[in-house]
Amino acid sequence: MTQPQLFEEEDGPEGTAQGQPCLSVLVSYPVDKAYDYIVPEGLILQPGDYVTVPVRGREIPGVVWGEGAGDVPTKKLKSIVARHELPPMPEVERQFLDWVAQYNMSPKGSVLKMALSVPAALDPPKPVKGYKPGVEINDKTRKGLSPQRQRVLEILSDDIARRPSEIAEAANCTPGVIKGMADKGLVRAVEMYSAAPCRNPDAHRPGAELSDAQSEAVKQIAQYTKTKEQSALLIDGVTGAGKTEVYFEAVAEALKQDRQVLILLPEIALSNAFLDRFKSRFGCPPALWHSHLSPAQRRRTWRGVAEGQTKVVVGARSALFLPYMDLGLIVVDEEHDPAFKQEDGVIYHARDMAVVRAHLGKIPIVLVSATPSLETMHNVWPKPHGSGRYAQVHLPDRFGGARLPEIETIDMREDRPERQHFISPTLKNAVAETIQAGEQALLFLNRRGYAPLTLCRSCGHRMDCPRCTAWLVEHKQSARLHCHHCGFETMLPKHCPECDAADSFAVCGPGVERIVEEARGYFPDAKIMMLASDTAENNEQLRKMLADIREHKVDIIIGTQIIAKGHHFPNLTLVGVIDADLGLQGGELRAAERTYQLLHQVAGRAGREEKKGKVYLQSFMPGHRIMEALAAGARDEFLRVEALEREQSHMPPFSRLAGIIVSGRDEDQVIEVSKALGMSAPQGKTKEGQGIQTLGPAPAPFARLRGKYRYRLLVRADKNIDLQKTIGAWVHNIKTPSTVRVQIDIDPQSFL
Ligand code: ADP
Ligand code: ZN
Repeated sequence: MTQPQLFEEEDGPEGTAQGQPCLSVLVSYPVDKAYDYIVPEGLILQPGDYVTVPVRGREIPGVVWGEGAGDVPTKKLKSIVARHELPPMPEVERQFLDWVAQYNMSPKGSVLKMALSVPAALDPPKPVKGYKPGVEINDKTRKGLSPQRQRVLEILSDDIARRPSEIAEAANCTPGVIKGMADKGLVRAVEMYSAAPCRNPDAHRPGAELSDAQSEAVKQIAQYTKTKEQSALLIDGVTGAGKTEVYFEAVAEALKQDRQVLILLPEIALSNAFLDRFKSRFGCPPALWHSHLSPAQRRRTWRGVAEGQTKVVVGARSALFLPYMDLGLIVVDEEHDPAFKQEDGVIYHARDMAVVRAHLGKIPIVLVSATPSLETMHNVWPKPHGSGRYAQVHLPDRFGGARLPEIETIDMREDRPERQHFISPTLKNAVAETIQAGEQALLFLNRRGYAPLTLCRSCGHRMDCPRCTAWLVEHKQSARLHCHHCGFETMLPKHCPECDAADSFAVCGPGVERIVEEARGYFPDAKIMMLASDTAENNEQLRKMLADIREHKVDIIIGTQIIAKGHHFPNLTLVGVIDADLGLQGGELRAAERTYQLLHQVAGRAGREEKKGKVYLQSFMPGHRIMEALAAGARDEFLRVEALEREQSHMPPFSRLAGIIVSGRDEDQVIEVSKALGMSAPQGKTKEGQGIQTLGPAPAPFARLRGKYRYRLLVRADKNIDLQKTIGAWVHNIKTPSTVRVQIDIDPQSFL
């Protein structure tokens, strides 16, 4: 684990006088600490200022982190190049970045890089050209103008500057018309600056009329916000309880104090429906932050947040690292969602880091879920079962008297589908009745493509990815085999690559495409829509598809988890889970919890308005405690059993875990480094290893991924142990060739 060398001995700047002031600057580059730089004459700087500094011949952005350390002679230091015109990054943000780096064992500069993710936003935006009227608009000036030109003046008559493209569209003319008018002085060019998004949300607009339960919840949240006696508050409410309306009240409160608000959502939940609700509550859309924004949108939002102009950000996990000038509230909706964990680069859990951010800033944080994670529930449960650190408000009923759906398990050993089919007779009948009644049905299968496995009937050869330990998935849509891990794709060969038999391939198991085919066979007249993360080409198309469902343009929806979360489809009354056992395979620590959450979320799509919903879970293990708990609505009992099991096996939240993944293209090297790590691993037997256990090294479950070999060690430690310190001392002592990567994953969520 070598750090890149930032400064070479001989490349100190020339001619700098002794005794010049210096400051330490953290740069967005994978370095572990802030380095000293000279403050050039005439530049006045304070901690938090955004600056540009030279690093190895390049100029890169950084932030003044504090006083100079004085550990390098001044004549070897370089000068800060420039200061950017922005308010300084507040101290609490800097503390937060330091904390994230330390906790997740990532270089400080890499964490800063997440905060400085839009370097172009450091400089003030360049104006764009707009037009205003060039003459007073009256009958006289209008006289003799073409209808097009008259329309242009009409549009500009409110004296607000607009872009030429905007005017041309509104006046239904070409930009050439506007140019011609400018030449004649009928309109005049002005410089326009695009405003920061979400500058003026109106907290005083009346919100929805709340039910008694909702009002009570709002009161409790206000109490928590005022005292902050607990370190977070959980809104624990069934799907459809109206949790969003409730936390909007907390958002309004923060806005009334003129502070900024961050609402974190799993990316998938950033739907139009959510934005519409926000807009109708606060009168303007929120600022969005996710991976599909245009560079211009990113620039505007980043700068708006840093300047404190943008008041509300709704975003995916990376929104936590925007440089808020005055953050006053964080909401983490769907707090249990695995998408909050970032698995590459700086590995972190956004929900957990959000709790830390709130703590450092002494601001309230509201976690929201119908199926809270075990970690969160453990923090809610009072001692001795839990830590009692979080407050909880309960919304046990759906809003407006809608009832929770009835959940029933179908025993697939008895209720058998036809050969090579996957929909049981009971489910098939239920779908038929549902569409007959003019309602909608959702068939859920969390697997993309047509079939997860293709094998040769003559020799049994399985088509697998040449770069990953994974089977190739057939997709009928593209008529190819795909690897869902690295993107590899290929045609299905005519002959088996192993035994050369011709046309010998058979598919095993279903993906959503295969369920579509089956449903078409059963319901030839029904309108069927398939929805998976790879069906919609872009966000716009996805939004359109979701709107089509809401507007009842389809009868049967067949989808993966993209359809499971958050959506509100008024006519959907039946949910059929094709394979409820799917997530339980593989024996991961959180398999049961995740399966429960996902199935509960999917089930929650049914019967969200006056018509009651029904959910069928197709399972080969109908007696499994998950199926029983789901059917009985016994979430808390389920979680308590789960907690007990974790406690007995000394697993989180009753202990701490870290994963160490060693990867590289040369398998021998990877094994060598892993073995060296294994040999010197802290273990219970040694003094330093008290309360620590290291498992492995062993090939990771995906022993090859994107062409790289991967070995894994898992460290489990008692809660009172400083895991980061122990791992740091251990891993840093191992010599690692530059072609091998050692990644540390604190609190691992998935065990790939
Ligand atoms: P949850 O997030 O708890 O699943 P939502 O906040 O999506 O639930 O609310 C479910 C539905 O009920 C939405 O259509 C929402 O607009 C409606 N709703 C909730 N509370 C109210 C209210 N107080 N007044 C009117 N409609 C409400
Ligand atoms: Zn692959």
